[in-house]
Amino acid sequence: MIKHHPSADILIDFAAGTLPVAQAACVSAHLNYCDCCRGSTEQLQSIGGVLMEQLVPVAVSESVLDSILARLDEPVPLSFIQQRVRHRRVDLPGLLNRIINGDFSQLAWKRVTRSLSVSHLQTGDDQREFALYRIAAGGNIPNHRHGGAEMTLVLEGGFSDELGTYHPGDFVFRDASDVHAPTAIDGEECICLAVLDAPLQFTSWQYRWLNPFLQLQAG
Ligand SMILES: [Zn+2]
Repeated sequence: MIKHHPSADILIDFAAGTLPVAQAACVSAHLNYCDCCRGSTEQLQSIGGVLMEQLVPVAVSESVLDSILARLDEPVPLSFIQQRVRHRRVDLPGLLNRIINGDFSQLAWKRVTRSLSVSHLQTGDDQREFALYRIAAGGNIPNHRHGGAEMTLVLEGGFSDELGTYHPGDFVFRDASDVHAPTAIDGEECICLAVLDAPLQFTSWQYRWLNPFLQLQAG
């Protein structure tokens, strides 16, 4: 049973197509688990369609049609998520689908601490980090803050923090002011999809030396 969902504002932006592509991918992955949010999104898209039909048409130049047709040859967003493996970019077609379906077999993981590994993926959104976090059973991500918003979707296992406990399909949003230390529930490894406006910044003195390393990995 999914208990944690995107806010109405996030769903409205998603339905309107105005969410940044990396965040849209995270919300889309949540909809894969959540009938409730999928129904809400379909309703919002219907409302958006009705509102569009009521707009008064405005004449545009012919170059607008040309520029739209030219974009038909561009890759579909997220159809090719990339990963950098040993300084090479590797195209992984359909990776998002495989991740949502629990297949993490082709990912390259970087160990950050004894309990935490990270797999950074490229989505074409240079403003955001899109990564999988793997936390060992009972392990934690050290206390950290964010330089911006953080979206997290649990894919396997579960974790808890100061505000709750989260299981597969649960969606968690934290803003820049939040400091927390997610801990994987006992007995099961936790794998999450995370979209960050800026790399994590560990706040406890034992782990602060890792911050430059995290920022390098996000590039
Ligand atoms: Zn939901």
